[in-house]
Amino acid sequence: MRRQRNVKIVATLGPASSTYDVIRTLHEAGADVFRLNMSHGRHEEIEERHKIIRQVEKDLDSPIAILADLQGPKLRVGTFANGAEELVDGARFRLDLDPTEGDMNRVCLPHKEIFAALKCSARLLVNDGKIRLKVLEYGEDFANCEVTVGGIISNRKGVNVPDVVLPLAALSEKDCADLEFACALGVDWLALSFIQRPADVYEARSLVDGRAAILSKIEKPAAIEHFSEILDASDGIMVARGDLGVELPVHAVPPIQKRLVRKCRAAAKPVIIATQMLESMIESPMPTRAEVSDVATAIYEGTDAIMLSAESAAGSFPVEAVNTMNNVAIEVEADPTYEQIIAASRGGRQSSIADGIVAAAREIAETTEVKAICCFTQSGTTAHLIARERPGVPIIALTNMRQTVRQLVLSWGTYCVMTGTLDRFKMAVINAVRAARAGGFATESDQIVVIAGVPFNIPGTTNILRVASCDERLIQSMDPR
Ligand code: ATP
Ligand code: MG
Ligand code: MG
Repeated sequence: MRRQRNVKIVATLGPASSTYDVIRTLHEAGADVFRLNMSHGRHEEIEERHKIIRQVEKDLDSPIAILADLQGPKLRVGTFANGAEELVDGARFRLDLDPTEGDMNRVCLPHKEIFAALKCSARLLVNDGKIRLKVLEYGEDFANCEVTVGGIISNRKGVNVPDVVLPLAALSEKDCADLEFACALGVDWLALSFIQRPADVYEARSLVDGRAAILSKIEKPAAIEHFSEILDASDGIMVARGDLGVELPVHAVPPIQKRLVRKCRAAAKPVIIATQMLESMIESPMPTRAEVSDVATAIYEGTDAIMLSAESAAGSFPVEAVNTMNNVAIEVEADPTYEQIIAASRGGRQSSIADGIVAAAREIAETTEVKAICCFTQSGTTAHLIARERPGVPIIALTNMRQTVRQLVLSWGTYCVMTGTLDRFKMAVINAVRAARAGGFATESDQIVVIAGVPFNIPGTTNILRVASCDERLIQSMDPR
């Protein structure tokens, strides 16, 4: 679906967004990518949502990316008989291994490693730090805590223990089962939670075996330390600010966000800014001014995508939240300051022929009236290189790989179209022109830039740039090759 903005919107699906009508409305309102969180919901529910998304994609003839998010070694409480309980300041609250449903006095924390590693006075932070518990006493299967900051605790909320080093593997048994399930469904992106080292990414990559692209969630101090290698090992990054702001002082998050966005852009890999972007819209149809500003900041920084979590998964105003992001994006991208910031953060010259060609395409787009930059890509790399330039015109990526079409939906400014297998440049130009016109990007009297690699179907051969007329009769008179 053609958007009036370049930044992409990721919406998490959950109980507030599980029907065909809501999912379709979210996509029409602007959600480009849907996130299925494997931490919540049973496989049957996730499979049902996946099916609905693919149906919407088909009905609207508009590619949609599906991102499955693995829980990773995240500690979570079990469930409550009432679904939720209010913990009041100063009260006692027990965490244990008893799988029965919790109440106002206790709940299961089904991770026995944690009890072995605890210490007295350790802080337990629940739900991205909104509730705080202090360990008073503990044994090998329980911890009695004091509620130092109360609040509503509900099913499967996350728990962080920043004072304690926990001996947890990167992929749990559940993660391996979820990974297999998600790959078998045919998701496009797989997000890895709490990775700490590049080896964690390689381990998942070998299990995924090319069935999905891999997005590493940065939410641990160790992942920041090893960021360059993790970026090398990954196809994309998520700045997962919820856990990051608990694992590190919350004021450390904004500079990290800025730095990671720049590094991802320099590496030509997509990056998502996630968590609490419009948090108050879980309950209110109107965001706070600070939230609007946060969304705007991420866009000014040049992120590829912005994400909704509970706002779209479990909130009362999922469609309004997508509308808000869409409106902020349109406004920011129309601001001349945006263009200046994006240009100023472009980074130095790169050395390959492909880099030179995409930079030239962007310059032509900046200085002339061309309407789009079209490229042919199999793995998506050429489209990523163009996106890194953040050109002022739409990027139209044509590919014969369905998975590449969907994966590229996440990338800044990229509009993806399925095309047949091509073997001649003239056919490629005709396909590009047709895609640009069919998408409403250009008319017969316009011109577009076409980038390709000849011979076709050999990766890494980007070597042609042509400014093509969108008048097919003129192309037909081209040299037949
Ligand atoms: P993560 O650390 O992976 O982001 P999370 O618990 O923060 O995990 P989100 O997907 O960010 O989960 O969603 C935020 C909240 O929305 C969750 O804590 C949960 O209360 C609710 N939620 C999200 N998806 C679902 C779902 N499928 N079923 C039930 N509740 C959900
Ligand atoms: Mg998280
Ligand atoms: Mg979250």
